Amino acid sequence: MTKPLTIVWFRQDLRIGDQPALRRAVDRGGVIPAYIWAPDEEGDWPLGGASRWWLHHSLASLDEQLRQRGSRLIVRRGPTQQTLDELLEQTGATAVYWNRRYEPAAIERDKQVKAALVSRGVQAESFSGSLLHEPWTITTKQGAPYQVFTPFWKACLGAAVKHETLAAPREVAGPSKWPATLKLEELELLPTLAWDAGIAEAWEPGALAAERRLQEFVGEAIGRYQEDRDRTDIDSSSRLSPHLHFGEISPRQIWLAVEKALEAFKAKSTSGASKTRQSAEVFLKEVGWREFAYHLLYYFPQTPGEPLREQFRGFPWRRSQKDLRAWQRGRTGFPIVDAAMRELWTTGFMPNRTRMIVASFLTKDLRLTWLRGAEWFWDTLVDADLANNTLGWQWTAGCGADAAPYFRVFNPTMQAEKADPDGEYIRRWVPELAKLPTKWLREPWTAPEEELVAAGVELGKTYPRPMVDHHEARDAALAAYERVKKS
Ligand SMILES: Cc1cc2nc3c(=O)[nH]c(=O)nc-3n(C[C@H](O)[C@H](O)[C@H](O)COP(=O)(O)OP(=O)(O)OC[C@H]3O[C@@H](n4cnc5c(N)ncnc54)[C@H](O)[C@@H]3O)c2cc1C
Repeated sequence: MTKPLTIVWFRQDLRIGDQPALRRAVDRGGVIPAYIWAPDEEGDWPLGGASRWWLHHSLASLDEQLRQRGSRLIVRRGPTQQTLDELLEQTGATAVYWNRRYEPAAIERDKQVKAALVSRGVQAESFSGSLLHEPWTITTKQGAPYQVFTPFWKACLGAAVKHETLAAPREVAGPSKWPATLKLEELELLPTLAWDAGIAEAWEPGALAAERRLQEFVGEAIGRYQEDRDRTDIDSSSRLSPHLHFGEISPRQIWLAVEKALEAFKAKSTSGASKTRQSAEVFLKEVGWREFAYHLLYYFPQTPGEPLREQFRGFPWRRSQKDLRAWQRGRTGFPIVDAAMRELWTTGFMPNRTRMIVASFLTKDLRLTWLRGAEWFWDTLVDADLANNTLGWQWTAGCGADAAPYFRVFNPTMQAEKADPDGEYIRRWVPELAKLPTKWLREPWTAPEEELVAAGVELGKTYPRPMVDHHEARDAALAAYERVKKS
Protein backbone atom coordinates (compact mmCIF):
# COMPACT_ATOMS: atom_id res chain seq x y z
CA MET A 1 0.00 0.00 0.00
CA THR A 2 1.39 3.46 -0.83
CA LYS A 3 1.88 5.73 2.15
CA PRO A 4 -0.34 8.82 2.44
CA LEU A 5 1.32 12.09 1.44
CA THR A 6 1.31 15.23 3.58
CA ILE A 7 2.25 18.76 2.57
CA VAL A 8 4.26 20.44 5.32
CA TRP A 9 3.71 24.15 4.89
CA PHE A 10 6.87 25.81 6.23
CA ARG A 11 6.63 29.41 7.46
CA GLN A 12 8.54 30.70 10.48
CA ASP A 13 9.76 27.23 11.44
CA LEU A 14 12.63 26.72 9.02
CA ARG A 15 14.21 23.75 10.76
CA ILE A 16 13.88 20.00 10.84
CA GLY A 17 14.63 19.33 14.54
CA ASP A 18 11.87 19.91 17.11
CA GLN A 19 9.52 20.61 14.22
CA PRO A 20 6.10 19.21 15.20
CA ALA A 21 4.40 19.56 11.79
CA LEU A 22 7.27 17.82 10.00
CA ARG A 23 7.56 15.11 12.66
CA ARG A 24 3.86 14.26 12.44
CA ALA A 25 3.94 14.26 8.65
CA VAL A 26 6.95 11.92 8.62
CA ASP A 27 5.12 9.59 11.02
CA ARG A 28 2.10 9.63 8.69
CA GLY A 29 3.98 8.77 5.49
CA GLY A 30 5.49 10.72 2.60
CA VAL A 31 6.18 14.44 2.89
CA ILE A 32 6.13 17.37 0.48
CA PRO A 33 7.94 20.21 2.23
CA ALA A 34 6.69 23.50 0.78
CA TYR A 35 7.41 27.19 1.20
CA ILE A 36 4.92 29.66 -0.27
CA TRP A 37 6.09 33.24 -0.77
CA ALA A 38 3.04 35.45 -0.23
CA PRO A 39 4.12 38.87 1.08
CA ASP A 40 0.70 40.41 0.31
CA GLU A 41 -0.80 38.20 2.99
CA GLU A 42 1.26 39.73 5.81
CA GLY A 43 -1.09 42.68 6.34
CA ASP A 44 0.68 45.99 6.86
CA TRP A 45 3.98 44.29 7.59
CA PRO A 46 5.36 42.47 4.52
CA LEU A 47 8.95 41.34 5.07
CA GLY A 48 11.57 44.12 5.15
CA GLY A 49 14.81 44.13 3.16
CA ALA A 50 17.10 42.60 5.79
CA SER A 51 14.57 39.89 6.62
CA ARG A 52 14.23 38.99 2.95
CA TRP A 53 17.99 38.52 2.80
CA TRP A 54 17.82 36.21 5.79
CA LEU A 55 14.87 34.29 4.42
CA HIS A 56 16.65 33.54 1.14
CA HIS A 57 19.62 31.98 2.92
CA SER A 58 17.50 30.25 5.51
CA LEU A 59 15.40 28.55 2.82
CA ALA A 60 18.59 27.47 1.03
CA SER A 61 19.86 25.94 4.24
CA LEU A 62 16.56 24.16 4.90
CA ASP A 63 16.57 22.74 1.38
CA GLU A 64 20.09 21.42 1.92
CA GLN A 65 19.13 19.70 5.15
CA LEU A 66 16.09 18.15 3.55
CA ARG A 67 18.17 16.93 0.62
CA GLN A 68 20.55 15.19 3.04
CA ARG A 69 17.48 13.23 4.15
CA GLY A 70 16.29 12.29 0.69
CA SER A 71 13.81 15.14 0.39
CA ARG A 72 13.75 18.72 -0.94
CA LEU A 73 11.97 22.03 -0.48
CA ILE A 74 9.30 22.97 -2.99
CA VAL A 75 9.19 26.74 -3.41
CA ARG A 76 6.17 28.50 -4.86
CA ARG A 77 4.63 31.95 -5.02
CA GLY A 78 1.24 32.60 -3.41
CA PRO A 79 -1.65 33.22 -3.04
CA THR A 80 -1.38 30.53 -0.39
CA GLN A 81 -4.80 28.95 -0.76
CA GLN A 82 -4.52 28.58 -4.50
CA THR A 83 -0.97 27.26 -4.26
CA LEU A 84 -1.87 24.66 -1.66
CA ASP A 85 -4.82 23.56 -3.80
CA GLU A 86 -2.52 23.18 -6.81
CA LEU A 87 0.03 21.22 -4.82
CA LEU A 88 -2.65 18.91 -3.44
CA GLU A 89 -3.90 18.26 -6.92
CA GLN A 90 -0.48 17.79 -8.48
CA THR A 91 0.80 15.39 -5.81
CA GLY A 92 -2.27 13.56 -4.55
CA ALA A 93 -1.43 14.60 -0.98
CA THR A 94 -4.33 14.24 1.44
CA ALA A 95 -3.19 16.40 4.34
CA VAL A 96 -1.58 19.77 5.04
CA TYR A 97 0.31 20.32 8.32
CA TRP A 98 1.87 23.52 9.65
CA ASN A 99 3.04 25.17 12.86
CA ARG A 100 0.98 28.05 14.16
CA ARG A 101 1.81 31.74 13.81
CA TYR A 102 0.35 34.47 16.02
CA GLU A 103 0.48 37.70 14.00
CA PRO A 104 -3.06 39.05 13.34
CA ALA A 105 -2.84 38.82 9.52
CA ALA A 106 -1.38 35.31 9.69
CA ILE A 107 -4.08 34.12 12.11
CA GLU A 108 -6.80 35.44 9.83
CA ARG A 109 -5.27 33.87 6.71
CA ASP A 110 -4.58 30.54 8.43
CA LYS A 111 -8.17 30.30 9.66
CA GLN A 112 -9.46 30.78 6.12
CA VAL A 113 -6.98 28.27 4.68
CA LYS A 114 -7.91 25.69 7.29
CA ALA A 115 -11.65 26.12 6.71
CA ALA A 116 -11.23 25.83 2.94
CA LEU A 117 -9.06 22.71 3.20
CA VAL A 118 -11.37 20.99 5.67
CA SER A 119 -14.40 21.78 3.51
CA ARG A 120 -12.71 19.87 0.70
CA GLY A 121 -12.04 16.85 2.90
CA VAL A 122 -8.31 17.57 3.28
CA GLN A 123 -6.83 16.80 6.68
CA ALA A 124 -5.57 20.18 7.89
CA GLU A 125 -3.73 20.31 11.21
CA SER A 126 -1.69 22.96 12.93
CA PHE A 127 0.80 22.53 15.79
CA SER A 128 2.57 24.55 18.44
CA GLY A 129 6.18 24.99 17.37
CA SER A 130 7.50 28.44 18.14
CA LEU A 131 6.55 29.34 21.71
CA LEU A 132 7.02 27.68 25.07
CA HIS A 133 3.45 28.61 25.96
CA GLU A 134 0.82 29.53 23.42
CA PRO A 135 -0.98 32.77 24.34
CA TRP A 136 -4.28 31.17 25.34
CA THR A 137 -2.60 28.72 27.74
CA ILE A 138 -1.45 31.47 30.12
CA THR A 139 -4.12 33.77 31.55
CA THR A 140 -4.85 35.44 34.87
CA LYS A 141 -7.13 33.71 37.37
CA GLN A 142 -9.99 35.69 35.85
CA GLY A 143 -9.14 34.35 32.39
CA ALA A 144 -7.84 37.74 31.20
CA PRO A 145 -4.56 38.36 29.36
CA TYR A 146 -1.55 39.51 31.38
CA GLN A 147 -0.35 43.06 30.88
CA VAL A 148 2.50 42.98 33.39
CA PHE A 149 5.57 40.87 32.74
CA THR A 150 6.49 39.60 36.23
CA PRO A 151 3.21 37.79 37.02
CA PHE A 152 3.08 36.58 33.41
CA TRP A 153 6.52 35.03 33.69
CA LYS A 154 5.70 33.56 37.10
CA ALA A 155 2.67 31.89 35.55
CA CYS A 156 4.84 30.57 32.71
CA LEU A 157 7.39 29.18 35.14
CA GLY A 158 4.57 27.46 37.00
CA ALA A 159 3.30 25.83 33.82
CA ALA A 160 5.03 22.72 32.53
CA VAL A 161 7.49 22.88 29.64
CA LYS A 162 7.70 19.54 27.85
CA HIS A 163 11.06 18.11 28.79
CA GLU A 164 12.06 16.76 25.45
CA THR A 165 12.54 18.03 21.95
CA LEU A 166 11.48 16.18 18.82
CA ALA A 167 14.51 14.66 17.12
CA ALA A 168 15.17 15.63 13.52
CA PRO A 169 13.98 12.82 11.25
CA ARG A 170 16.86 10.78 9.76
CA GLU A 171 14.98 10.28 6.55
CA VAL A 172 12.09 12.17 4.99
CA ALA A 173 10.25 10.07 2.42
CA GLY A 174 8.89 11.93 -0.59
CA PRO A 175 6.42 11.38 -3.42
CA SER A 176 7.27 9.11 -6.35
CA LYS A 177 7.35 12.21 -8.56
CA TRP A 178 8.30 15.64 -7.22
CA PRO A 179 6.12 18.61 -8.16
CA ALA A 180 7.71 21.60 -9.89
CA THR A 181 9.52 24.16 -7.78
CA LEU A 182 10.77 27.69 -8.35
CA LYS A 183 14.45 28.35 -7.96
CA LEU A 184 15.03 30.39 -4.80
CA GLU A 185 16.51 33.19 -6.90
CA GLU A 186 13.17 33.56 -8.65
CA LEU A 187 11.64 34.89 -5.42
CA GLU A 188 14.02 37.87 -5.77
CA LEU A 189 14.59 38.14 -2.05
CA LEU A 190 18.18 39.32 -2.36
CA PRO A 191 18.92 42.99 -3.00
CA THR A 192 19.60 44.08 -6.56
CA LEU A 193 22.01 46.75 -5.32
CA ALA A 194 24.60 44.97 -3.20
CA TRP A 195 24.06 46.51 0.27
CA ASP A 196 24.26 43.19 2.05
CA ALA A 197 28.03 42.66 2.45
CA GLY A 198 28.03 43.74 6.11
CA ILE A 199 25.09 41.49 6.90
CA ALA A 200 26.69 38.53 5.11
CA GLU A 201 29.88 39.08 7.11
CA ALA A 202 28.06 39.26 10.43
CA TRP A 203 25.61 36.36 10.07
CA GLU A 204 25.15 32.80 8.98
CA PRO A 205 21.46 31.96 8.59
CA GLY A 206 20.17 28.41 8.99
CA ALA A 207 19.42 25.87 11.68
CA LEU A 208 22.94 24.44 11.83
CA ALA A 209 24.43 27.87 12.48
CA ALA A 210 21.71 28.50 15.09
CA GLU A 211 22.61 25.30 16.91
CA ARG A 212 26.33 26.21 16.86
CA ARG A 213 25.60 29.68 18.20
CA LEU A 214 23.43 28.24 20.95
CA GLN A 215 26.12 25.75 21.98
CA GLU A 216 28.82 28.43 22.01
CA PHE A 217 26.64 30.69 24.10
CA VAL A 218 25.48 28.16 26.69
CA GLY A 219 28.97 26.65 26.84
CA GLU A 220 30.56 29.82 28.12
CA ALA A 221 29.09 33.29 27.67
CA ILE A 222 25.88 32.50 29.52
CA GLY A 223 27.77 32.76 32.84
CA ARG A 224 28.61 36.38 32.09
CA TYR A 225 25.28 37.30 30.53
CA GLN A 226 23.79 38.91 33.63
CA GLU A 227 26.83 41.11 34.13
CA ASP A 228 27.63 41.94 30.52
CA ARG A 229 24.36 41.95 28.61
CA ASP A 230 24.07 45.73 28.57
CA ARG A 231 27.58 46.16 27.15
CA THR A 232 27.64 47.08 23.49
CA ASP A 233 31.41 46.88 23.03
CA ILE A 234 31.56 43.11 23.58
CA ASP A 235 29.57 40.18 22.23
CA SER A 236 27.56 39.78 25.40
CA SER A 237 24.25 38.28 24.34
CA SER A 238 23.30 35.14 22.45
CA ARG A 239 22.45 36.77 19.08
CA LEU A 240 19.87 34.08 18.58
CA SER A 241 17.05 36.50 17.71
CA PRO A 242 17.00 36.12 13.90
CA HIS A 243 17.32 32.35 14.26
CA LEU A 244 14.40 32.38 16.69
CA HIS A 245 12.32 34.64 14.48
CA PHE A 246 12.67 32.39 11.45
CA GLY A 247 12.19 29.32 13.60
CA GLU A 248 15.62 27.90 12.82
CA ILE A 249 15.69 27.03 16.47
CA SER A 250 12.81 26.57 18.90
CA PRO A 251 12.59 28.21 22.32
CA ARG A 252 12.27 24.73 23.79
CA GLN A 253 15.60 23.71 22.24
CA ILE A 254 17.10 26.79 23.89
CA TRP A 255 15.45 26.09 27.21
CA LEU A 256 16.64 22.48 27.34
CA ALA A 257 20.16 23.37 26.15
CA VAL A 258 20.45 25.88 28.99
CA GLU A 259 19.31 23.29 31.54
CA LYS A 260 21.75 20.72 30.18
CA ALA A 261 24.63 23.18 30.26
CA LEU A 262 23.82 24.08 33.85
CA GLU A 263 23.90 20.42 34.84
CA ALA A 264 27.28 19.97 33.15
CA PHE A 265 28.59 23.10 34.79
CA LYS A 266 27.39 21.95 38.22
CA ALA A 267 29.12 18.61 37.81
CA LYS A 268 32.43 20.31 36.94
CA SER A 269 32.66 22.98 39.61
CA THR A 270 30.63 24.29 42.48
CA SER A 271 32.25 27.67 43.04
CA GLY A 272 30.67 29.53 40.14
CA ALA A 273 27.57 27.35 39.84
CA SER A 274 25.09 29.60 41.60
CA LYS A 275 26.28 32.69 39.73
CA THR A 276 25.93 30.86 36.44
CA ARG A 277 22.47 29.64 37.40
CA GLN A 278 21.41 33.18 38.23
CA SER A 279 22.83 34.46 34.97
CA ALA A 280 21.06 31.68 33.04
CA GLU A 281 17.80 32.60 34.73
CA VAL A 282 18.19 36.19 33.58
CA PHE A 283 18.78 34.90 30.04
CA LEU A 284 15.71 32.65 30.14
CA LYS A 285 13.69 35.58 31.40
CA GLU A 286 14.58 37.42 28.20
CA VAL A 287 13.27 34.47 26.23
CA GLY A 288 10.25 34.99 28.48
CA TRP A 289 9.91 38.57 27.21
CA ARG A 290 9.55 37.09 23.76
CA GLU A 291 6.72 34.91 25.05
CA PHE A 292 5.15 38.01 26.63
CA ALA A 293 5.43 39.91 23.36
CA TYR A 294 3.50 37.17 21.55
CA HIS A 295 0.93 37.05 24.35
CA LEU A 296 0.34 40.79 23.96
CA LEU A 297 0.22 40.70 20.18
CA TYR A 298 -2.32 37.89 20.29
CA TYR A 299 -4.64 39.64 22.75
CA PHE A 300 -4.08 43.18 21.48
CA PRO A 301 -3.75 42.67 17.71
CA GLN A 302 -4.14 46.39 16.99
CA THR A 303 -0.85 47.26 18.76
CA PRO A 304 1.57 47.10 15.79
CA GLY A 305 -0.13 50.28 14.58
CA GLU A 306 -1.69 51.79 17.71
CA PRO A 307 -0.52 52.45 21.25
CA LEU A 308 -1.85 49.97 23.80
CA ARG A 309 -2.41 52.79 26.30
CA GLU A 310 -5.18 54.81 24.75
CA GLN A 311 -4.15 58.11 26.31
CA PHE A 312 -1.19 58.13 23.90
CA ARG A 313 -3.47 58.32 20.86
CA GLY A 314 -3.52 62.09 21.17
CA PHE A 315 0.19 62.49 21.88
CA PRO A 316 1.59 65.56 20.09
CA TRP A 317 4.30 63.82 18.05
CA ARG A 318 6.38 66.10 15.87
CA ARG A 319 6.72 65.50 12.15
CA SER A 320 10.08 66.03 10.52
CA GLN A 321 11.33 63.97 7.62
CA LYS A 322 14.72 65.66 7.98
CA ASP A 323 15.11 64.65 11.63
CA LEU A 324 13.89 61.13 10.92
CA ARG A 325 16.44 60.82 8.15
CA ALA A 326 19.28 62.04 10.40
CA TRP A 327 18.32 59.41 12.96
CA GLN A 328 18.06 56.66 10.35
CA ARG A 329 21.42 57.52 8.84
CA GLY A 330 23.27 57.81 12.17
CA ARG A 331 23.86 61.55 11.85
CA THR A 332 22.27 62.93 15.01
CA GLY A 333 25.51 64.23 16.52
CA PHE A 334 25.09 61.89 19.52
CA PRO A 335 27.86 59.31 19.04
CA ILE A 336 26.21 56.38 20.85
CA VAL A 337 22.99 56.87 18.86
CA ASP A 338 24.88 57.23 15.59
CA ALA A 339 27.09 54.20 16.29
CA ALA A 340 24.04 52.03 16.90
CA MET A 341 22.12 53.25 13.86
CA ARG A 342 25.13 52.65 11.64
CA GLU A 343 25.66 49.19 13.12
CA LEU A 344 22.02 48.44 12.31
CA TRP A 345 22.37 49.66 8.73
CA THR A 346 25.55 47.66 8.16
CA THR A 347 24.87 44.40 10.00
CA GLY A 348 21.08 44.24 10.39
CA PHE A 349 21.41 44.14 14.18
CA MET A 350 21.98 46.22 17.28
CA PRO A 351 22.12 45.09 20.91
CA ASN A 352 19.10 45.48 23.16
CA ARG A 353 20.62 48.35 25.17
CA THR A 354 21.25 50.47 22.10
CA ARG A 355 17.79 49.63 20.74
CA MET A 356 16.43 51.27 23.88
CA ILE A 357 18.80 54.24 23.63
CA VAL A 358 17.98 55.02 19.98
CA ALA A 359 14.25 54.42 20.53
CA SER A 360 14.23 56.79 23.50
CA PHE A 361 16.13 59.34 21.43
CA LEU A 362 13.62 59.15 18.57
CA THR A 363 10.49 59.25 20.72
CA LYS A 364 11.65 61.66 23.40
CA ASP A 365 14.58 63.80 22.26
CA LEU A 366 13.15 64.17 18.73
CA ARG A 367 9.53 63.48 19.75
CA LEU A 368 8.85 61.57 16.52
CA THR A 369 6.32 58.79 16.75
CA TRP A 370 7.52 55.31 17.73
CA LEU A 371 5.76 53.98 14.61
CA ARG A 372 8.36 55.56 12.29
CA GLY A 373 11.05 53.89 14.39
CA ALA A 374 9.26 50.54 14.33
CA GLU A 375 8.98 50.77 10.53
CA TRP A 376 12.67 51.54 10.11
CA PHE A 377 13.64 48.64 12.38
CA TRP A 378 11.24 46.43 10.46
CA ASP A 379 13.06 47.12 7.22
CA THR A 380 16.62 46.98 8.54
CA LEU A 381 16.73 44.34 11.31
CA VAL A 382 17.54 40.76 10.40
CA ASP A 383 15.49 39.75 13.45
CA ALA A 384 12.50 42.03 12.65
CA ASP A 385 9.65 40.41 14.53
CA LEU A 386 6.19 41.92 14.77
CA ALA A 387 5.64 40.87 18.39
CA ASN A 388 9.06 41.84 19.76
CA ASN A 389 9.38 45.01 17.72
CA THR A 390 5.96 46.27 18.78
CA LEU A 391 6.67 45.50 22.41
CA GLY A 392 10.15 47.07 22.28
CA TRP A 393 8.94 50.31 20.70
CA GLN A 394 5.86 50.70 22.83
CA TRP A 395 7.87 49.84 25.95
CA THR A 396 10.43 52.55 25.24
CA ALA A 397 7.86 55.11 24.14
CA GLY A 398 5.93 54.47 27.35
CA CYS A 399 2.68 53.60 25.59
CA GLY A 400 2.69 49.80 25.87
CA ALA A 401 1.99 47.14 28.48
CA ASP A 402 4.32 47.21 31.49
CA ALA A 403 6.23 49.96 29.69
CA ALA A 404 8.99 52.18 30.95
CA PRO A 405 7.21 55.33 32.10
CA TYR A 406 7.31 58.08 29.47
CA PHE A 407 9.21 60.35 31.87
CA ARG A 408 12.13 57.90 31.85
CA VAL A 409 14.23 59.60 29.20
CA PHE A 410 17.53 57.89 28.43
CA ASN A 411 20.50 60.22 28.68
CA PRO A 412 22.69 59.20 25.72
CA THR A 413 25.92 60.26 27.42
CA MET A 414 25.32 58.41 30.66
CA GLN A 415 24.05 55.36 28.80
CA ALA A 416 27.19 55.35 26.66
CA GLU A 417 29.40 55.47 29.77
CA LYS A 418 27.87 52.23 31.01
CA ALA A 419 27.33 50.43 27.72
CA ASP A 420 30.65 51.33 26.14
CA PRO A 421 33.05 52.27 28.95
CA ASP A 422 36.19 52.60 26.80
CA GLY A 423 34.45 53.95 23.74
CA GLU A 424 35.37 50.97 21.57
CA TYR A 425 31.86 50.59 20.18
CA ILE A 426 31.64 54.26 19.20
CA ARG A 427 35.11 54.16 17.63
CA ARG A 428 34.18 51.06 15.61
CA TRP A 429 31.01 52.54 14.12
CA VAL A 430 31.81 56.26 14.07
CA PRO A 431 35.40 56.13 12.80
CA GLU A 432 35.54 59.88 12.19
CA LEU A 433 35.67 60.27 16.00
CA ALA A 434 38.10 57.39 16.59
CA LYS A 435 41.03 59.59 17.56
CA LEU A 436 39.18 61.59 20.19
CA PRO A 437 40.15 60.72 23.77
CA THR A 438 37.40 58.76 25.57
CA LYS A 439 36.76 61.74 27.83
CA TRP A 440 35.30 63.72 24.89
CA LEU A 441 34.12 60.87 22.73
CA ARG A 442 30.54 60.74 24.00
CA GLU A 443 29.99 64.52 23.77
CA PRO A 444 32.42 65.80 21.15
CA TRP A 445 30.76 69.23 21.22
CA THR A 446 32.16 69.75 24.75
CA ALA A 447 35.76 69.02 23.67
CA PRO A 448 38.28 71.90 23.61
CA GLU A 449 39.09 73.08 20.11
CA GLU A 450 42.69 71.79 20.26
CA GLU A 451 41.49 68.27 21.14
CA LEU A 452 39.13 68.30 18.16
CA VAL A 453 41.85 69.55 15.85
CA ALA A 454 44.31 66.93 17.12
CA ALA A 455 41.71 64.21 16.48
CA GLY A 456 40.90 65.57 13.01
CA VAL A 457 37.31 66.37 13.98
CA GLU A 458 35.57 69.42 12.58
CA LEU A 459 32.09 69.63 14.05
CA GLY A 460 29.42 70.35 11.47
CA LYS A 461 31.78 69.09 8.76
CA THR A 462 33.43 65.77 9.55
CA TYR A 463 30.83 64.94 12.20
CA PRO A 464 27.44 66.63 12.87
CA ARG A 465 26.79 68.96 15.76
CA PRO A 466 24.15 67.54 18.16
CA MET A 467 20.74 68.02 16.55
CA VAL A 468 19.11 68.87 19.90
CA ASP A 469 20.10 69.95 23.38
CA HIS A 470 19.28 66.78 25.32
CA HIS A 471 18.13 68.61 28.46
CA GLU A 472 15.88 71.02 26.59
CA ALA A 473 14.47 68.20 24.46
CA ARG A 474 13.78 66.18 27.59
CA ASP A 475 11.87 69.07 29.17
CA ALA A 476 9.82 69.57 26.00
CA ALA A 477 8.98 65.85 25.88
CA LEU A 478 7.90 65.85 29.52
CA ALA A 479 5.74 68.94 28.96
CA ALA A 480 4.04 67.20 26.02
CA TYR A 481 3.45 64.17 28.19
CA GLU A 482 1.90 66.30 30.95
CA ARG A 483 -0.59 67.67 28.42
CA VAL A 484 -1.60 64.17 27.35
CA LYS A 485 -1.83 63.01 30.95
CA LYS A 486 -4.22 65.86 31.79
CA SER A 487 -6.36 65.31 28.70
C1 LIG B 1 12.89 49.30 20.28
C2 LIG B 1 13.12 47.82 20.31
C3 LIG B 1 12.83 47.03 19.20
C4 LIG B 1 13.05 45.66 19.21
N1 LIG B 1 12.76 44.92 18.09
C5 LIG B 1 12.96 43.58 18.09
C6 LIG B 1 12.67 42.80 16.95
O1 LIG B 1 12.17 43.27 15.93
N2 LIG B 1 12.94 41.46 17.01
C7 LIG B 1 13.46 40.86 18.13
O2 LIG B 1 13.69 39.65 18.12
N3 LIG B 1 13.70 41.59 19.23
C8 LIG B 1 13.48 42.92 19.26
N4 LIG B 1 13.78 43.64 20.39
C9 LIG B 1 14.16 42.92 21.62
C10 LIG B 1 15.67 42.71 21.83
O3 LIG B 1 16.36 43.90 21.69
C11 LIG B 1 16.27 41.65 20.92
O4 LIG B 1 15.49 40.47 20.97
C12 LIG B 1 17.69 41.29 21.34
O5 LIG B 1 18.51 42.42 21.33
C13 LIG B 1 18.25 40.24 20.42
O6 LIG B 1 19.57 39.93 20.75
P1 LIG B 1 19.96 38.52 21.34
O7 LIG B 1 19.37 37.43 20.52
O8 LIG B 1 21.43 38.52 21.51
O9 LIG B 1 19.22 38.55 22.74
P2 LIG B 1 19.49 37.80 24.11
O10 LIG B 1 19.71 38.85 25.13
O11 LIG B 1 20.53 36.77 23.98
O12 LIG B 1 18.07 37.15 24.43
C14 LIG B 1 17.68 35.85 23.96
C15 LIG B 1 16.37 35.96 23.20
O13 LIG B 1 15.34 36.47 24.03
C16 LIG B 1 14.46 37.31 23.28
N5 LIG B 1 14.52 38.67 23.83
C17 LIG B 1 15.58 39.28 24.42
N6 LIG B 1 15.24 40.53 24.84
C18 LIG B 1 13.95 40.69 24.49
C19 LIG B 1 13.02 41.77 24.63
N7 LIG B 1 13.35 42.90 25.25
N8 LIG B 1 11.77 41.62 24.14
C20 LIG B 1 11.39 40.47 23.53
N9 LIG B 1 12.23 39.41 23.37
C21 LIG B 1 13.49 39.52 23.84
C22 LIG B 1 14.96 37.32 21.85
O14 LIG B 1 14.24 36.37 21.11
C23 LIG B 1 16.42 36.93 22.02
O15 LIG B 1 16.97 36.31 20.90
C24 LIG B 1 13.56 45.03 20.39
C25 LIG B 1 13.84 45.82 21.51
C26 LIG B 1 13.63 47.20 21.47
C27 LIG B 1 13.96 48.02 22.69
